Amino acid sequence: MSALLKIRGLQLAYGGIQAVKGIDLDIFEGELVTLIGANGAGKTTTMKAICGLKTCAAGSIEYRGELLKNLPPHELLKRGLAMVPEGRGIFARMTILENLRMGAYLRNDVNGIKQDIEQMFVYFPRLQERAAQLAGTLSGGEQQMLAMARALLGRPKLLLMDEPSMGLSPLMVERIFEVVREISAQGLTILLVEQNARLALQAANRAYVMESGLISMSGEAKQLLGDPKVRAAYLGE
Ligand code: ATP
Repeated sequence: MSALLKIRGLQLAYGGIQAVKGIDLDIFEGELVTLIGANGAGKTTTMKAICGLKTCAAGSIEYRGELLKNLPPHELLKRGLAMVPEGRGIFARMTILENLRMGAYLRNDVNGIKQDIEQMFVYFPRLQERAAQLAGTLSGGEQQMLAMARALLGRPKLLLMDEPSMGLSPLMVERIFEVVREISAQGLTILLVEQNARLALQAANRAYVMESGLISMSGEAKQLLGDPKVRAAYLGE
């Protein structure tokens, strides 16, 4: 089986500083893959490159056999790639409902969109309670829920999530991860970048560990969860 997303020899730099030094990464259809690692390891930079927000210095990123080069975000979305960015990127001056509708702007199946919005309200009842409120007034956790729901409204084939747990209360994190597990169980392919390694490894099928711009380990998430090196370096044991 060929990978849905295939990264080979990827290098990324900020001026003279190499943030990513040649990594390979595969994501197969239906998998929940997590990319974990310490602060500054290069996870977010890798994610940005997949989304076309960062130019590759070397290497390739292929999605369904097509090179993702110089494709703007809306072209990526047309192909089924949606991102939930770090910092969420919601439209603060629009209501929650308007934000959700924006997520579906490439679709014209009115009934399907309606159903999907209802489904998001089931996942995140808080969004329903605040549907008419401006998104900028939401708490950090609620904004994360909205960002995720908005991305899902695009009916993506591959969902890229950058640090969804960042800055959230444990309860919010729990809810977000419950939904991540649920949409994954329904078959959505997900790449999850996380600093909370324990949570990420518990949810994922497979994982890559990034260290100073390189992949230092990879394998089944469960296996990595039990690995002494991972436990010492990333699980605080
Ligand atoms: P975090 O969890 O903090 O987001 P990360 O693993 O995602 O960490 P990156 O944000 O990808 O790491 O950063 C990788 C390296 O690139 C770091 O050394 C960082 O200092 C550097 N870096 C990131 N963004 C920039 C930038 N805009 N300009 C210069 N250097 C940057």
